[in-house]
Amino acid sequence: MSIFKFHRIRVLMYHKLSYAESDGLTVTINQFESQMQYLQTNGYDIISMQELINHITLKDEILAKKPVLITFDDGYVNNLTYLFPYIEKHKCPVTVFLPTAYIGKCNSWDEGKSDIMSWEQLSSAPKEISFGLHSHKHVSLEQLDDAQIKAELEQNMQSFEGKDINFVPTLAYPFGKFPKKRKKQLASILLELGIKAAFRIGNRHNPIPINAPFFIQRLDIRGDRDFNDFTKKIKWGKLF
Ligand SMILES: [Zn+2]
Repeated sequence: MSIFKFHRIRVLMYHKLSYAESDGLTVTINQFESQMQYLQTNGYDIISMQELINHITLKDEILAKKPVLITFDDGYVNNLTYLFPYIEKHKCPVTVFLPTAYIGKCNSWDEGKSDIMSWEQLSSAPKEISFGLHSHKHVSLEQLDDAQIKAELEQNMQSFEGKDINFVPTLAYPFGKFPKKRKKQLASILLELGIKAAFRIGNRHNPIPINAPFFIQRLDIRGDRDFNDFTKKIKWGKLF
C-alpha cells in the first residue's frame, strides 16, 4: 500500500527541444525550463527510472509525495544540444528511449529529417540520463505478431550490448501503440525479455502502487499548447 492517499505518478513524454521553434513534437527550451520550474515550485519530485523499477520489482515505496518521471522519445541530436546541458546543470533524472536502427541517422520512419544521436554522442550523456527501448526499427507493435514483437525487441536490446551508456530495461511503445487484444501475450514476452516497465500514451496519471507496469500512461507534452494546458495535464491528466 502507498503511504499517501491518492498517490499518483505523472510520466511526461517529450520528443524534441529547440531554441526557437515549437510544434506538436517540439518544445522550446524556454517552455521546457518553465515546465520544470513549475514542477519544482509546486512540490513535484522528479524520480529516476531506477526508482520506478525498484518500486515495481522490489515493491519499494515511492517516497516522493508527488512523483514525476521525465521521458524523451527517439534520441534526437537536439537533446544533445539542449537537454544534456540542462541535466548537467540541474542534475534531474531523465530517460531517453531509442529506436536503435536509427542511431547516427535520422527519423526516416516518419519521413523526417531530424538527426538522431550516434552512440558516441549518446555516451557523452550526463549520468542522470538513462536509456531505454523504443523497438529497433520504430515500428508499431500493433502490426506485428508475437514472434515478430519478440524479435524486434530482442534486436533493440542486443544493440545496447557493450555500449557505454546507462541502459535501463524499459520500453516506450513506438507511436504509443501495442496490440490491445493481446495484452497478456505481450506482457509475457516483455517479462521473458527482462523488461521491467513499458509506457503507452494515455494522458492520464498512474495510481501508485503501479498495478500494470507494462501499460504505464504518459502525458503528451506538446510545444503547440500553452502553459495553461501543461499545468492542467499535470494537475488532472486527461480532460474531458
Ligand atoms: Zn518515437
